[in-house]
Amino acid sequence: MTPSQLISASFIPIAYGEKACKVSGWQKPENQLDYATLTQYSQPTNYGVVAGTSKLCLIDVDKPDHPKLKELEPYLPETFTVTTGKGLHYYYSYTEPNKWNKDTLSFRDENKNELLGIRIGSSYVIGPNSKHPDGRDYVVSVDVPIATITNTQLDGIVEALGENKDTKTITGSVLVVPSVIVTTPADTSKMDEPDKTIYTYNIYNVLDYFGISPTATIHPIHGSTNGNNWTVKDNIATCWRCNIHFGPLELFALLSSKCDCDKAESHCRGRDYITTKKMFLSVFADWSLFTSGSGGRC
Ligand SMILES: [Zn+2]
Repeated sequence: MTPSQLISASFIPIAYGEKACKVSGWQKPENQLDYATLTQYSQPTNYGVVAGTSKLCLIDVDKPDHPKLKELEPYLPETFTVTTGKGLHYYYSYTEPNKWNKDTLSFRDENKNELLGIRIGSSYVIGPNSKHPDGRDYVVSVDVPIATITNTQLDGIVEALGENKDTKTITGSVLVVPSVIVTTPADTSKMDEPDKTIYTYNIYNVLDYFGISPTATIHPIHGSTNGNNWTVKDNIATCWRCNIHFGPLELFALLSSKCDCDKAESHCRGRDYITTKKMFLSVFADWSLFTSGSGGRC
């Protein structure tokens, strides 16, 4: 059963003993479940508690014994807490604006292992009374009401830990895009034609083909909650919610299949890469459109 502290939360279904939600588009509120619906699911079941739509901040601590976490105590008031075997989930009510414009703020230790994640957007933790894939149960360890956390307290945590600046980057068969915003195009000298041609293809033409404004700031597929999660710069489009960069080919995969950001990556790998490349070249057969610049249209 789901504890009563979560009565106004939003949930997503997950198979018992698993961690990944198989519902596509679970990020959308209409694909999420309320408490009454969830409790009608046949038991036992796993489920995810979604941070953003629940107005919760879910702090996912992977290494509770790490000395760095001692410094966080002033910012983490006692609240409803779930143990996950090796880690902890702190549940907080969170009603302030998500000024980071991210779903999760993640922090790693000196060995690059996951230390702690602050889930504030389209991001979830596995709920209490679920079962971990390795057999452990998620158990309520502090059974008190959910406390509130503020941006000032979150600032304290971010400052104490130093936010991990790594962003997830697509590295398809053609593209090696740096993990920061690039100001110069990638080295295309070692690429074959037409791979090189695709990489140097003006990304604005891809946007134009799909009728998307080059100055749009809202993600063209999954939208934006704050109207500001999408940029196009230096022939790279970036989704700041998912922290994923798109070259011309990945952008084409994203827009033509209307898939999730991370799926666009798999469309540009292995066997799918050949298919995507063929489609790209069949659509953009007008070679006069190819330019190496990153300005407006031709
Ligand atoms: Zn995205």
